[in-house]
Amino acid sequence: MTSFKELVTLYDKLLETSKRLEKTFWLSDFLKKLELEELKKVVLLVQGRVFPRWNSQEIGVSSNLIVKLLAKASTFKEKEIEKLWSQLGDLGLVAEKIIVKKQQVTLFTKQLTITEVFNVLVKIPTITGTNSTDLKLNYLLNLLLNCSPQEAKYLVRTIIGDLRLGVGESILLDAINQAFLPKVIANSLDDTGCFLECPSCHEIIPVSSPNCPKCNFSLSSLKTVPPITNKQIITIEDLNDFYTKLSDLKSNVFIKTSKTKEISSEIKMILEDALNILNDFSELSVLAKTSSLKELYAVELKPLRPAKVMLYLKAKDLKDALEQLKPPVALEYKYDGFRVHIHKKDNIIRLFTRRFEDVTKQFPDVVKAARELMQADSYIIDCEVVGYDIKTKKYLPFQKISQRIKRKYNIHEMSKDFPVEVNAFDILYLNGKTLIKEKFSVRREKLVEVIKAKDKVLGPAKQKIVNNYEEAQAFYQESLDKGNEGVMVKSLDAIYKPGKRVGYGLKVKPVMETLDLVIVGAEYGEGKRAGLLTSFILACRDELGNLLEIGKVSSGFAELNSENKETYEEMTKKLKELIISESGLQVRVKPEIVIEVAYEEIQKSPTYSSGYALRFPRLVRVRYDKDVSEISSIDYIEQLYLQQRGRNLS
Ligand code: AMP
Repeated sequence: MTSFKELVTLYDKLLETSKRLEKTFWLSDFLKKLELEELKKVVLLVQGRVFPRWNSQEIGVSSNLIVKLLAKASTFKEKEIEKLWSQLGDLGLVAEKIIVKKQQVTLFTKQLTITEVFNVLVKIPTITGTNSTDLKLNYLLNLLLNCSPQEAKYLVRTIIGDLRLGVGESILLDAINQAFLPKVIANSLDDTGCFLECPSCHEIIPVSSPNCPKCNFSLSSLKTVPPITNKQIITIEDLNDFYTKLSDLKSNVFIKTSKTKEISSEIKMILEDALNILNDFSELSVLAKTSSLKELYAVELKPLRPAKVMLYLKAKDLKDALEQLKPPVALEYKYDGFRVHIHKKDNIIRLFTRRFEDVTKQFPDVVKAARELMQADSYIIDCEVVGYDIKTKKYLPFQKISQRIKRKYNIHEMSKDFPVEVNAFDILYLNGKTLIKEKFSVRREKLVEVIKAKDKVLGPAKQKIVNNYEEAQAFYQESLDKGNEGVMVKSLDAIYKPGKRVGYGLKVKPVMETLDLVIVGAEYGEGKRAGLLTSFILACRDELGNLLEIGKVSSGFAELNSENKETYEEMTKKLKELIISESGLQVRVKPEIVIEVAYEEIQKSPTYSSGYALRFPRLVRVRYDKDVSEISSIDYIEQLYLQQRGRNLS
């Protein structure tokens, strides 16, 4: 049993370095030593979570409850703890301080294990009912009283969802790769992505490390790659040969090849694809440790377990889209609703948003239609759900239908007043088989085949295969006339890549592109708006998932109750539950609420960590359906900035 102490020692090490290679090495070194059951837990814990990616549950303990917990665990009063919190700005540090004081009085009694900590944290959200707060406090208190100060710091940060080790999904994937997958032996010292054996301590390390992370041996003193000793080596000619030998390529195997870059990036891609299909780091790490690349390559989607959606890139205009994808291509209406995956297995039907929230209960009409119209035992289909007006039969704005997502009561009435139309545009799984490696044209054929009759409630998205610009332009106009946002242009040969923003489909819409940004902080207003959070600090993301601030937004919200817009009061209520720290009128919040923002212009700015700021930003809508991992990237913002400069110059 590995102790929690060993895990937090790893956390310290991970925080000590900002170097990606070192973080990856220490993490992989730790993962290698774990038993399977612990491995499953640690790959979640290092990301500050206890539920797999497909599970939208959270530990769900607020910062205020932690203040109560710390008061119970010490002689401090809640007020004193709040004061310490505002001085230190981090409840983890407050916990560390309080436990130091406590231990001067009593010595903690037992060494916690990773499993014990994990098991309590997953249990917390299952505790409900009248006494639930006290029960939760008792469980957490039991853990906290057995923590060292250092353990308490990380435990509290984990509970409130603010672990911040700088271990994004891509570092974790590299660490799993390094710990368990076959490694390509470097032929030369600049074979990035490949490995060599440290001549001093014999540790296997990435060739791009400047020093051996284990013994600090400087690799710059090497002239050639030292030989690998005592390892099972398989020689691979090329990619074809690689795929014929997949079942021999297991954990402890080393690969000798002249195609180092191709093979090592193929291994990385197999792992990443498997993650996006399984949507679960725990399962992925176990498979990586125990199976060959063949099994990893062949993982299947699991209906009823939410899957990641494929994302699309934006084309400048229709002409650009056709130039990129080369006709014949499929054009589809781009409906303005929200995305849903409909799953069926064992006669159970479930609807999931792209954030993996189960919205089955909110849409009994859709479940009924799927049950009646879909002729298959099991499937996963990708759809856009749009609301329409019963009288005019015209599509409704997204805001109207978003009321149905949030609705918990009177659901049946709601489905009569706000009927929806489900436009299925892809199929990922059918009757026991994963279809994502099939061409889009084949998937579309199967999709059309499997929907028994076209019905207003559920049908295949309107599609046309076009051969030239004129045909495309006519279809685009038709789509806009019907009240849609634009069109999707899709390559007929493309596979489906869950979780990836690949250019297999391009969106074309006439209006200026908005940005999806996450709220990371907020400021209280003054005067009439005192006590309300009225200005929201926004961030985009970089390729590693780090958040970079890009400005503040305060317009576009409603002062009074409104059907279509969020009020400051509603925003304040939501954000208060997410507060991590407060200082003066500013609060820092857990990055969870994604909003779509329109603006006049993107400008360069030294004020914000992204290096950009938005001129006249305003809220378009709160994107309850989007996850923080899906917000606009800094690369994309840079691209928009450059396009905009191009426009200004011409
Ligand atoms: P955006 O939200 O602007 O990034 O555009 C992509 C979104 O358009 C997808 O995630 C879907 O929710 C939506 N969409 C509407 N119609 C289609 C369609 N025919 N094919 C794919 N996505 C569609």
